[in-house]
Amino acid sequence: MLKLSEFWSAKAHSEDFTLTRMGFMTVRLRLLTCLLMIGLPAWALVDWLTLTPSQFDALLKARVFCLLALSPLIPLSYLIHFKRVRMKLALGYLMAVMMLFSLICLRTFGSEQELQAGYMAFPYLLISLFAIFPIPLSLGLQLAGGILVTMLAGNWWLTEQPLWSLQTLNQVWLLALFTVASAWVQCGQLNMLLQLYRESTTDELTGMMNRRLLMKQIEQARANLLAKQKPFVVLLLDLDRFKRINDTYGHLAGDAVLKEVAATLSEQLEPGMVLGRYGGEEFSILLPGCGDLVQAKRVAERMRVAVEARLVKSPTSDELLEVTVSIGLTLARRGEGIEALLNRADECLYLAKMAGRNCVIDESALLSKPINASVA
Ligand code: GH3
Ligand code: MG
Ligand code: MG
Repeated sequence: MLKLSEFWSAKAHSEDFTLTRMGFMTVRLRLLTCLLMIGLPAWALVDWLTLTPSQFDALLKARVFCLLALSPLIPLSYLIHFKRVRMKLALGYLMAVMMLFSLICLRTFGSEQELQAGYMAFPYLLISLFAIFPIPLSLGLQLAGGILVTMLAGNWWLTEQPLWSLQTLNQVWLLALFTVASAWVQCGQLNMLLQLYRESTTDELTGMMNRRLLMKQIEQARANLLAKQKPFVVLLLDLDRFKRINDTYGHLAGDAVLKEVAATLSEQLEPGMVLGRYGGEEFSILLPGCGDLVQAKRVAERMRVAVEARLVKSPTSDELLEVTVSIGLTLARRGEGIEALLNRADECLYLAKMAGRNCVIDESALLSKPINASVA
């Protein structure tokens, strides 16, 4: 379910969603910058046809200045690197340059009445352009606030328009209308992006994160281990003899068991731990920051006991179904690939199955046990 806080502030978004959104926004920022960099000088042709030579000269300089001022945004956009604050700065910079251009136009023409309609509408057009970004309300309002303050201050300073006048009221009113329309589109885009993100990262049956997002989280943990020496442990959990539940009680009962196990595991999670559905009846838990196998084994044991203690009511009969889980766990090595890491966790899980199921095996067992027998 969507929360209001997600529309208000980006702080309510998950780190991974922010990464996705920033990637999307960076492309749009580049596109908008390119369009403005082409449009600003190209419009000089219209100026040449419609303005006096002195006005044309002044505006041409302003156009070239803005073109040059905007140009660093293209290379700098590659440094945004999915960071929210950097994106905010980039949008603020874009707004500042464009508002400066608007003020230069005002100064060139002398008063708002003498401005051509296109120049008068510049601040409103700018607010409308920001509608292409899926940004939360707080940022949309900050940008609109910046435009409003610059516009009113510019009018007061350059044309001596009083701050309290009917004209100011009209401008504020019009800007507010554009802001509402722009915020509507921004929130609509944010909403669509949030829903698409949820659908592509959530497991439909259990409601937990799916394998795609889980792998991204493991990749992130791997990068943190490499860059910041932050250790992590991976747990692979596989339900024992799950096929029998399906065969005996039906697929619906199997689904109910999967949901119940997912809920049980979620209840046992501590802050920072990441749980996802790895495959059919397999789950995985990531313990970021954990570099101690004994501690990880304690967590795994707690999960195992919790699942064992939970009885699931079959939806197809009144029976209470018992289910157990086998768990393999391993500590990530610095520099190793995800495949090697998951293979090791899988080997531990395999040993847990060989050891009779419903138990936890960590990687230390790999040193002592050969892996060649088949699981009955
Ligand atoms: P083991 O203890 O060795 O893991 O035995 P197992 O029966 O759990 O393992 P096996 O791999 O033979 O069977 C897994 C079963 O999980 C087979 C598949 O039909 C079932 N399964 C996978 N995904 C779902 C699902 O979403 N719903 C249901 N009901 N069953 C599923
Ligand atoms: Mg399995
Ligand atoms: Mg199984």
